Amino acid sequence: MHSFSRREFLATMGAAATLSVSRGAVATTAMPAKGSTPFSDEDRIVDMHVHFDEKNPNFVEDLVKVTEPLKVTACVLTPYARRTIIAEAAKRHPKRIVPFGYVDMDAPDAVRQAEEFHALGYRGLGELEFVKKPFTDPSYMPVYELANRHSWVILFHTGIVLRQEFDQAEDVASYRMRAFHLEEIARRFPKITVLGAHCGNPEYEWAGEVARWNPNVFFDLSGSSLTKMRDRLGDFRKIFWWTGTKWGTKTPEDDPSAFVKLVFGSDEGLDGIAPVLEQYRAMFEACDVPMPTRKLILGGTLIKILGLTA
Ligand SMILES: [Zn+2]
Repeated sequence: MHSFSRREFLATMGAAATLSVSRGAVATTAMPAKGSTPFSDEDRIVDMHVHFDEKNPNFVEDLVKVTEPLKVTACVLTPYARRTIIAEAAKRHPKRIVPFGYVDMDAPDAVRQAEEFHALGYRGLGELEFVKKPFTDPSYMPVYELANRHSWVILFHTGIVLRQEFDQAEDVASYRMRAFHLEEIARRFPKITVLGAHCGNPEYEWAGEVARWNPNVFFDLSGSSLTKMRDRLGDFRKIFWWTGTKWGTKTPEDDPSAFVKLVFGSDEGLDGIAPVLEQYRAMFEACDVPMPTRKLILGGTLIKILGLTA
């Protein structure tokens, strides 16, 4: 979920762009000018975190327009009520859209909703958030059991969550969505690929450590973290510290970099995809993330897990 306004975000991005120019890294990492296509097919990007936009009646068309030149495949996090729209759109645009279903985990028919998403060709669930109980509550297990049977991918919100109503009571609390809850889910349901959004913000250390020991856990860096940390992106090396040690787990392509536990997610609306890509690239530069690892983070890992061949 968005944790700050579009205007704040754009203002910040202006500052970030200036910063990356001054770093001299922008020439190799900037997005291509409009109309140019310097990417080969192996540069396909998978954005794990694109929410269906209820306010945009042309959402599907706009998504295709935005993602095509960027070579982005968007995992579209779809409300149950919109399930058929995105199921059909994904069939029309298999290179652009992978359907993911949002289930309210506290709804009495959550399992049935998940089954229906599966029948429609959905590839997983997410973003699970605003839960009334911690992610590991026994009442949520039937949904995870179903996801495990289908070897699904689930995107969980982790860490601080925005407040939707400032002047009304809400039954919402970040502690129910702490990154360390994903450890139990990943271990009890080893066929689920567990993705944590926002890298546990601000508990990055827990997120990193849970990812380190669990081959089926990855995190995205969407949300405010890359903005908050823009002047100290190198600090992520302290979180993803185990490169070249024995203290890790099996990784995609046996990539030795600890950073391979990240995947790309934007979570900023269609206009936000390119700017967040730039933020990821600034982090790659600051942390000297190796080229093969960057490719896995930006797409390779999820292309393989989701079996994207279209
Ligand atoms: Zn979220």
